[in-house]
Amino acid sequence: MRRVILHVDQNCYFASVEMISHPEYRNVPMAVVGDKEKRHGIVLAKNQLASKAGVKTAEVIWQARSKCPDLVLAVPHYDKYEFYSRKLRELYQEYTDKVEPFGLDECWLDLTDVIGDRDPGEVADEIRSRVRTEFKLTCSVGVSFNKIFAKLGSDYKKPDATTVITEENFKDIVWPLPCSDLLFVGRSTKERLAKVNIKTIGDLANCDRAFLSEYLGKHGVELWIYANGLDDSEVKDSDYRRSVKSVGNSSTTVTDMTSEREISSTYLTLSSSVAGRLRRAGLTGNVIQISVRDRDLVVSEKQKILPDHTDNAGVIHKAAMELFNGFYDWHLPVRSIGVRMTGLIPKGSPSQISLFENMEETGKNEKLDKAIDSIKERYGKKSLVFLGEIGGEDSVDISGRSFDTEIKR
Ligand SMILES: [Mg+2]
Repeated sequence: MRRVILHVDQNCYFASVEMISHPEYRNVPMAVVGDKEKRHGIVLAKNQLASKAGVKTAEVIWQARSKCPDLVLAVPHYDKYEFYSRKLRELYQEYTDKVEPFGLDECWLDLTDVIGDRDPGEVADEIRSRVRTEFKLTCSVGVSFNKIFAKLGSDYKKPDATTVITEENFKDIVWPLPCSDLLFVGRSTKERLAKVNIKTIGDLANCDRAFLSEYLGKHGVELWIYANGLDDSEVKDSDYRRSVKSVGNSSTTVTDMTSEREISSTYLTLSSSVAGRLRRAGLTGNVIQISVRDRDLVVSEKQKILPDHTDNAGVIHKAAMELFNGFYDWHLPVRSIGVRMTGLIPKGSPSQISLFENMEETGKNEKLDKAIDSIKERYGKKSLVFLGEIGGEDSVDISGRSFDTEIKR
């Protein structure tokens, strides 16, 4: 049966939520900023008038003000963003159990089993109109037969619009668009594709799959599949995410590790891989476990509970090192180490609110994590090597190590 998938994306989410309680913000350029008092606070979100004036997310206040002197600044209310995010998910769940959040303001909905005779575009319009009247928020909805095109559809026309991409019309709608409109095509992939004259999604779809495989590896094949409308990944509902119990990764080194720096470097690689898989599954965990196997193959395990749920590589790495330094006495060199996250809950769950209180800091980490993800997606897991000091005599090369990854369900 042909699948019916919606991707709902709230427009200017943080700014729109602020405008619910402050209608006066609707008629002026407005930005939600972290740390308004400091000139160096950053723009977290902005309304459409501010966008028109050239204000960009993540720029510092004085930069934004230099382009838009009348910019009105609002402080963020993460509890509200979380509240509406949950309410919106409840609304979507009236239509289907299969709702997969992607960040706070986006969700995929799989309507395949529940759509019956209804027209999918009409259901999308109904959801938009309910979001507008029940929440005073606007969203764009993409409707398609796979997640990738649904996501692209919600981006295609906004604000407050529905775009339906079918098997019949996708070549007309999707193929003329630049490759970078496709989920998971970052700037560097875009540039590499441009070098071989692949500029549009159609170019990508019509080029030789074997060539892309050779040129960009597994990621190239994935993009070819996406461009041809062949993505068959499932909408991962909360049941699926509840069934994942832990995400872990371990590494055995060719030569035993003898310094804290080597351990730290390996844990950073492992933490980044675990964090990446948590993010892809839409999960966060608050229990970290590490395992350490010494040269005599004796295994020790330690664990602790973190103050907040996280999917952040830096946070996981720091906790892993604290655990390691708290017990390992270096009686022997270390053969292998592992890190595992449990206590998993879907990202954006209520217990994450305290995390948002540190959003500015977290925002930066998340950007770094996303950059790491996209590099690894493009060049493979071992592409990124963390070095304490690049070129320093203690710098560690991970290329000779084997990685065992697993997701336990
Ligand atoms: Mg959005």
